[in-house]
Amino acid sequence: MIKKILVANRGEIAVRIVRACSEMGIKSVAIYTDADRHALHVKKADEAYNIGSDPVQGYLNAHNIVNLAVAAGCDALHPGYGFLSENPVLSEICAKRGIKFIGPGPEVIAQMGDKIQARNAMIAAGIPCVPGSDGNLADVEEARKLAGKIGYPVMLKATNGGGGRGIRRCNDEKELLANYERVISEASKAFGKPEVFMEKCVVNPRHIEVQILADSQGSAIHLFERDCSIQRRNQKLIEIAPSPQLTQAQRDYIGNLAVKAAKAVGYENAGTVEFLLDQDNNFYFMEMNTRLQVEHTVTETITGIDIVQEQIRIADGMPLQYKQSEVQFRGFAMEYRINAEDPKNGFLPSFGKITRYYAPGGPGVRIDAAMYSGYVIPPYYDSMCAKLTVWALDWPGVIERGRRALSDMVVYGVKTTIPYYQEIMKHPEFRSGRFNTSFVESHPELVNYAIQFPPELMAAAISAAIAAHEGI
Ligand code: ADP
Ligand code: ADP
Ligand code: MG
Repeated sequence: MIKKILVANRGEIAVRIVRACSEMGIKSVAIYTDADRHALHVKKADEAYNIGSDPVQGYLNAHNIVNLAVAAGCDALHPGYGFLSENPVLSEICAKRGIKFIGPGPEVIAQMGDKIQARNAMIAAGIPCVPGSDGNLADVEEARKLAGKIGYPVMLKATNGGGGRGIRRCNDEKELLANYERVISEASKAFGKPEVFMEKCVVNPRHIEVQILADSQGSAIHLFERDCSIQRRNQKLIEIAPSPQLTQAQRDYIGNLAVKAAKAVGYENAGTVEFLLDQDNNFYFMEMNTRLQVEHTVTETITGIDIVQEQIRIADGMPLQYKQSEVQFRGFAMEYRINAEDPKNGFLPSFGKITRYYAPGGPGVRIDAAMYSGYVIPPYYDSMCAKLTVWALDWPGVIERGRRALSDMVVYGVKTTIPYYQEIMKHPEFRSGRFNTSFVESHPELVNYAIQFPPELMAAAISAAIAAHEGI
């Protein structure tokens, strides 16, 4: 039985995992760099250990982290998302050192982390994929020939990519030639590997992904889909479960397809199979993420299933607690990634001190945050400082609840994406429940909201005006 878990991550996801541990009577161990001394996950875990002064490398040193897990008496390790979560080396070292890795084995992580291997495995299993390369592109000449065969527009994608980086759309040969070296350079910088491949670009698709759970006995189920079409530069901003754009028949089809995909690669633990849905309602496999996902909260909210607790049970060798027919969902859930960014300034990160923070509350509201009043957001990490998840019985209801909760949520000191999301909630296209991945790009005017002054600044401005008027 797992009794103590090392959480190999930081921020809101580390806090999320600590909470699951606490509810299961499992001890949690946090790790932190110097820059994260005052981070919330350090305060919430049962124990916390400093892993050095380098703000990023600390969280990427698999040997160090597993040594620490052993020394602290942990029997398992949860990788969260980002950092080492999709690095097969961590899973492998854990196995060697007798630490249960809360995720799949190294072979499946390596196979799915390589988007070409993943595509080829899916094609072999009869899962529909968009036309594309069957290997890495050797040079720009091969890219040009393949694009001619597939037909423009095409996508150049980093083979080992993630987090929406290293992806470029090419509308014609000129753009392909211009983008080829750029994608290689992005892939080398972001992922340490220069490999790129090509896929047909699905024009104005919906991003539909399916959450799956698979145990070590070979059973697999799905927990329905999430609609992550509201994206900026291939990065998700708002996620919804279930998708307001699917019929029940499409839902059943895609759920079963995801389970088939998971079984085809002998998947174990929680995972997500991502698909694109084109304008003619064809689904295509895009990639599989072999980890807990940022937006798992919307699935938890509609199904009532705690995905992190399920991950821990599966890693402990237990069979799935639910049959497919026992998994139900109710209503709609919507999650907003609250990023410390300035939408009016090209979504430039806005790091610094949170001078005041009031969490939203009331019916149907969940907050997963990494911040508190007085917290200084370090500049080294992701700009996401909280996730707001809301639930309501129907689609209009969840929009209104989201709008209300966003206005309840007050963050002073840094700019956030909150006012931008409020504009999206008002937009008729979004409200109609029919939108695709080009929504954000095709509505640049949504950043033109009026800036609301924090009341404290307003009060100071009024006093100053009165003082000036009275000549004090
Ligand atoms: P999700 O896939 O869970 O919806 P993201 O794609 O936004 O979420 O990824 C979550 C975090 O993990 C982000 O900080 C992102 O930069 C990071 N990340 C995702 N994939 C990779 C990768 N292959 N390499 C490095 N970081 C990654
Ligand atoms: P990552 O690993 O960075 O999450 P994905 O392969 O999941 O990369 O793609 C991220 C996003 O890029 C998708 O959600 C989608 O909006 C867009 N995208 C990727 N491939 C295609 C494609 N072939 N056609 C159209 N859009 C795509
Ligand atoms: Mg993806």
